[in-house]
Amino acid sequence: MELLRLENISLSFKFPEGEIKVLDKVSFSVSEGEIISLLGPSGSGKSTILRIIAGLLRPQEGKVYYKGEELNGINHGVAMVFQNFALFPWLTVLENVELGLKVLGLPQEIRREKALKAIDLIGLDGFENAYPKELSGGMKQRVGFARALVMEPDILLLDEPFSALDVLTAENLRNDLIELWMEKRIPTKAMILVTHSIEEAVYIADRVLLLSKDPGRIIKEVKIEIPHWRDKKSKEFLNLVDMIYGILTGKPMEKLAFREKKHLFIPQAGVGAITGLIELVNDLEGPVDIYKLGEELLMDIEDLLPIVEASEILGLAEIKEGDFVLTNSGKKFAEADVLERKEIFKELAIEKVPFLKQIIRVLQSKSNHKAPRDFFLDLLKQHLSAQEAEKQLDVLIDWGRYAEIFEYDDNKDELYLSEILSMEKKS
Ligand code: ADP
Ligand code: MG
Repeated sequence: MELLRLENISLSFKFPEGEIKVLDKVSFSVSEGEIISLLGPSGSGKSTILRIIAGLLRPQEGKVYYKGEELNGINHGVAMVFQNFALFPWLTVLENVELGLKVLGLPQEIRREKALKAIDLIGLDGFENAYPKELSGGMKQRVGFARALVMEPDILLLDEPFSALDVLTAENLRNDLIELWMEKRIPTKAMILVTHSIEEAVYIADRVLLLSKDPGRIIKEVKIEIPHWRDKKSKEFLNLVDMIYGILTGKPMEKLAFREKKHLFIPQAGVGAITGLIELVNDLEGPVDIYKLGEELLMDIEDLLPIVEASEILGLAEIKEGDFVLTNSGKKFAEADVLERKEIFKELAIEKVPFLKQIIRVLQSKSNHKAPRDFFLDLLKQHLSAQEAEKQLDVLIDWGRYAEIFEYDDNKDELYLSEILSMEKKS
């Protein structure tokens, strides 16, 4: 049975300077028994869609139907869980959970009974009288879930509820939620999960709606027909993750530019950006979802991808199931001092980027150990457009200088081996 339907929802935010279209003709429906995921980059309007469903925001165009009736005002059939928990710090766990029931005007005794049941259900037993600040992130979010579940909503709206938690805590809570749902221990009839993690969407949802941004649009719907519990390492699962990744980035995983022309083409990413990314991921400890990384760095996935790809080419990191994972070399690099870093980078760059080897060979074979930039540019132009060749050479020179593979004279625009470098090569 259909519970919810959005029909051609368009919404703009108006500013003095003009208006920004955030949602463009968004339509979908949700039936009883379904878990839907809204998956898309930051700013694609996912939270806005949830607020419209909750009746907190009215779109300029389109209609929302809840159980067949047009929604006008607050939707009492839904409850929301937020990424940042949104608890009241001055209330205890029990009081936080009871609050919504108070608004409904239920008598004290019933409120208490229901709240205690919800607290028990979500694994918060014994923490009734604790204050939010005394709880870990995972426990805080359990309060967030209890507060929503106690309302016994038809539809549970989940706005990136696992994004602020560390990997293990998030995984536990995800599994607990799936278990409550599978075993029908909650009266919830449907769930809408907002996320920017492809893996999370494929792990939990029955149907994933992919959103693009500027303005937010549904570009594709993907059905996940694997029964719970899903094996994240199975071929089926990984294929779905790859397919979705391809749709969202506009290029299939295996066709990313650097994989096509592996030997010549390196992504446009300077050493500074690569170093920054590796350091950040090392500090975060553990694999990081590429989308999440983009959000943390406030970068578009299109800008982040070259840095990710460069790290992968150099063997500093690997991409596994949409996660960015440091290799041993990557970890060593992150923890090394400046000189050791240069050494590691040099070793990897020479091994992984054939054109750098070629540069060294040319410089070594010349008696003065020098060669003009244009010489290498012409070599690259045999395989690349003039513009691409320029960009490539800039990156190669950036990498080579940093790693002290060669030196570069900005005035004469020439590459050369310093005395020390050329001696090292002769011996
Ligand atoms: P998501 O949840 O997918 O990251 P949001 O729905 O939060 O995206 O936001 C979509 C776009 O709408 C963003 O560009 C955001 O800046 C803008 N936006 C969201 N809420 C408001 C608001 N109250 N006023 C103005 N702009 C907003
Ligand atoms: Mg959001």
